[in-house]
Order: sequence, then C-alpha cells, then structure tokens
Amino acid sequence: MDINICDITLRDGEQAAGVNFYPNEKLRIAEKFALLGIPIIEAGFAAASPADFKAISLISKEIGGNGKDSPIICSMSRAKAHDIEVAAEALQYASIGRIQVVMSTSDIHLKHKFNIGRDEAKKIIHKMVSYAATFGYEVEFAAEDATRTDIDFLIEVFKIAVEAGATTVEIPDTVGYSSPNEYGKIVSSVCNALPNNIVISTHCHNDLGLAVANTLAGICAGARQAEVTVNGIGERAGNASLEEVVMNLSTRKDLYGFETNIETQYLLSTSWLVSDLSGISIQKNKAIVGDNAFLHESGIHQHGMLKNQKTYQIIDPKSVGWTGDQMFIGKHSGAHALLSKLSSMGIELTDEEFVVFYAKFKEFASVNKNIGENDLLKMVDANN
Ligand code: MN
Repeated sequence: MDINICDITLRDGEQAAGVNFYPNEKLRIAEKFALLGIPIIEAGFAAASPADFKAISLISKEIGGNGKDSPIICSMSRAKAHDIEVAAEALQYASIGRIQVVMSTSDIHLKHKFNIGRDEAKKIIHKMVSYAATFGYEVEFAAEDATRTDIDFLIEVFKIAVEAGATTVEIPDTVGYSSPNEYGKIVSSVCNALPNNIVISTHCHNDLGLAVANTLAGICAGARQAEVTVNGIGERAGNASLEEVVMNLSTRKDLYGFETNIETQYLLSTSWLVSDLSGISIQKNKAIVGDNAFLHESGIHQHGMLKNQKTYQIIDPKSVGWTGDQMFIGKHSGAHALLSKLSSMGIELTDEEFVVFYAKFKEFASVNKNIGENDLLKMVDANN
C-alpha cells in the first residue's frame, strides 16, 4: 500500500514569515522533487500573485508536462470563481493538474472570517467544487480549520464536496491544535463515512510540536495522502516535515507497512537547497537533515559504532544523502574513535606516541569547543 506524498513547500512553506521563492527558484526546488519522485507538488496559489501564477505555469510545463508519469501539479484556490479560473489557467501545461479548493468549516472561522452560517458554507462548497470540476482537472477539497470543526458537520461537508466532484479531501489541522489520538479519530470517522475511492489527506501544523506525529496518526487511521514541507517550514511553527514523515515510514516499515517510493538519497541536498533559498537555517539537532543528526561524540557510542554501526544507528546516513565520517571528535571522544580518525587522515602512531597524543588531546578538548583536523595535526606534530 502506498502513501502519496504531496509536497507543499512551494505554497504553505513559502508562507513562512519572510520567505519568498522567485519562480526560477521554485523551479529549482521542483527539479529536486522530480529527483525525489514526489508524486504531487503543490506549486503555489495561482491567484495570490503574478509570480505564483508564473511559477505554477513554469513547473506545470517543465516538471509536470511529460505525460501520464509526470507528477500531479496542484494550485491552491479559495472557494471563489476567480481563484479557480486563474488556477485552471496556470495549470494548463500540466499533464495531470489539480485544483485544491479551500473553504473554512469551523464555526469560529465561518462567523469571524466570513460572517456566514453553516448552511451558507455548504452552498458555497457545493457550488465552487462543482465549478472547479468543470475544468477537467482533479479536484481536492480542503476544509480549513477542520480539527476545530464539529465532526458531524465536517463529514456532511466532505460528502457534499465528493458529490460535487472532489476525489481527495484534506483534513487540515490549520492551527496545529490537535493531538495524535484526536487527529487519528477525526481521520478515521471521515474515512468510514466516505466511499473507498476517495483519498483522505493529512495537513498538519507544528504549533505544539506534533505535526509529524499527527500526520503519522492520520496515516494509521486511513489517510493515503500526506502534505508535508521540506525542513518543516510553513506558517508560524511550520508543517510536518517531508524528511521526517518519509523516514518514519521507511525506517519503521515493520510498524506502518507503507511505501512512499521516495528516492531518499536526495533528501539532504533538497533540504540544503530549500534552506539556502528560504533563508531559514536548519537547526543542528533537527532529525535526518540537521548537522548533528548522525554525529556520535561519546566514547562509548563511538566504540560501539566502530564495531558495528547498528549499535547506535537506526538509519544509514548515506540513505538520506550524507557522506563521510559520522564521528564527532570532541571532549567525549575515546581512544578508538581517535585512532580511527587519525587513520582516516593517513596518520599511524606507535602505542607510545598515541599515549602522549591522547593526553594532549584530552587537555586541548577540555578547553576548546571545536576541534578540527588541523588541531589534531598540530598535536601529532608536537608529539614528534
Ligand atoms: Mn497550512
């Protein structure tokens, strides 16, 4: 069974404060998505700006225009005729285009954003999803603020959207308010109420640090599409991260039983490109793509790793694009790691030389935070 990854870095990711991807930059990121084998790319919100329109059009042509094996290219659209028309035009070169129609469904949004009641919302959803379906693209309906929507009303609205032509329905935790247990229950209730051929999509935000956990709970409850962003960037605290969701599913395939068919060896270079172009640096201890994600410093761990990497490593760093040494030389490093490091630098010391070197190293490491190869070389030289 497959989980369809829908990458929304170019839309929700771009909504992160201060981020602006120019159309040619969006294309560079979309080229990475093609390498990763991402099946659905939400390329922007066509009616939002001429730049968004241009980017969607460019990506539709260059990445999504190669026939039936092309990724699906998606444009977001509010439940407004003009938005839908602009989205449809931007998608014209895509072999498989998708319009995502978004409309709020929670009482708090209906009252304060739209000043309408539930009946009026149902009418708008029916009318606009039906309209979107007339353009010949796939239609996804997203119920904004779904996790704060009365569940019976949410199901009613999804049934209306499906009847009007939506084939994917999205359950956004727009404000990052839900928990894995609760989100799973919502997904499962929606799944049970809709025909089997309708795909349910997750869309989780990280305000409480649960975006990835909620996404996985949604998948366990029956969602078959997951909306994610590279490095987890997005509105406020961001979205569920592509690399974390994908690597959870692949590392614990025994637990989840799903394939994503993502070429994971491109995750790291994609992460770096998005970090560069967004100006949002990657925290060092970020899972999968952070600088420290695979570095071992403690002597006990390093010793174990040198004997067998499986002692302290659940993911092969090469499988996500890291190359080189995963040993961090610092205060906590032991003799085994140092010998291995020196050997990788082409340096072999006699036992006596190593004893002197090791004493110098421990002294140096106790008063220095960063120890580079040049520092080690100096210690070796002073040794001779
Ligand atoms: Mn969002």
